[in-house]
Amino acid sequence: MDLDISDEDLVFAERLWTWLSENVEPQWLDRCTDYDDYVAEQDRWEKLLTGSRWAGVWWPKEHGGMGATPAQRAIYAEMTARLGAPEGSGKTGRRMLGPAVMRYGTPEQQEWVLPGILEGKHVWCQSFSEPDAGSDVASIRTRARRDGDAYVLNGSKIWTSHAQHATHSFILVRTGTGGDKHGGVSILLIDMDSPGIDIRPIQQIIGMPDYSEVFYDDVVVPAGRLLGSENQGWEIARYIMRYERGAVMVFDTLVRIERHLEGFARSVGESSFHRTALGRSAAKLAASRLLAYRVLGQQVEGGDPTDAGSIAKLYWSLTWLELGKAAQAATGELGLVAEPLTPEDTVLRGFFGSRPMTIGGGTVEIQRNIIAKRVLGLPTS
Ligand SMILES: Cc1cc2nc3c(=O)[nH]c(=O)nc-3n(C[C@H](O)[C@H](O)[C@H](O)COP(=O)(O)OP(=O)(O)OC[C@H]3O[C@@H](n4cnc5c(N)ncnc54)[C@H](O)[C@@H]3O)c2cc1C
Repeated sequence: MDLDISDEDLVFAERLWTWLSENVEPQWLDRCTDYDDYVAEQDRWEKLLTGSRWAGVWWPKEHGGMGATPAQRAIYAEMTARLGAPEGSGKTGRRMLGPAVMRYGTPEQQEWVLPGILEGKHVWCQSFSEPDAGSDVASIRTRARRDGDAYVLNGSKIWTSHAQHATHSFILVRTGTGGDKHGGVSILLIDMDSPGIDIRPIQQIIGMPDYSEVFYDDVVVPAGRLLGSENQGWEIARYIMRYERGAVMVFDTLVRIERHLEGFARSVGESSFHRTALGRSAAKLAASRLLAYRVLGQQVEGGDPTDAGSIAKLYWSLTWLELGKAAQAATGELGLVAEPLTPEDTVLRGFFGSRPMTIGGGTVEIQRNIIAKRVLGLPTS
């Protein structure tokens, strides 16, 4: 990847630095004592982003984006990571759905979806997983039956992140009737306030009802909301999932891991045993950052993220898990009774937050399968 910095890039970097310095509040995460605070911080950041030109930094100019050069994208990724900017409540739309609509959407869908994301009017969630279809998501049973100019949806989804705050969802549904499970699914773009949708948040152990179970009972969706063609859903879902593991996601997550590392460093004291664990995690985090640059490089050169993003996802999620365990061991029982906003509390949140990261976006085992099959081209049984 060519990351030579031009004069134009330096001007970009200066403008971005000024804007971020004026707008990012570095301690925003520490201020969050509950889920509502967290959501409010994400909303605050989303408003700032979408009220500026920076929301479109990853998007091409023809779709309302900034059309940033490769070097500028790297500068953006690194700078927002360094200053610890939040992800923003519209991240799923900006990072995952937007690129898919640019590629597969009709002109009408592009005119509706893309400005809605860039202007902060719509918040999208991803509705793929079901109780018996997570890793094997092509086995979904939520069905959309064509009825005249509409589809009628019935079924349920689970683990839908921030469903209760989303205005819209891209949902993977079964439309085919044949035996080919991959060939019989489609993606629909739905309004979350449609009659027949019942959202039930799931309370997590750290008090964040971040995911929901969502039930669909005769939900009517206009046929014009089909993304791509009928039964093309598996191809589009894979495209979206590659963006889910792509460069922009990796940099943001690394910042969150860095914050937990800082919490660990504050609570670890002088114990050489724990300081060794701290050093090991710091080194692995540095390696994760280099992997993130590799993913960014491939994304910039090839246009779309590749399955190689799975290598970075595998590595950073295992690094976070190891860090979470080490930090929890170092704080001992204090870490289990921590008061909010103490170093032990940061450690506790990091510990409980690490395991889901080895599952969301595809589990460790699934990433290994992808790397074996699609990156290394190993024979499969
Ligand atoms: C933080 C987080 C956010 C999420 N957000 C969303 C979201 O917004 N939208 C959404 O649709 N879903 C979301 N999910 C759900 C997530 O995609 C699924 O949890 C994940 O794909 C695993 O599916 P499962 O939970 O059904 O586990 P299962 O698929 O039942 O897996 C159970 C175990 O079996 C292993 N396994 C399964 N198949 C294989 C195989 N072929 N080879 C080897 N091992 C295998 C798995 O690795 C795992 O250890 C989220 C999950 C998390 C944790």
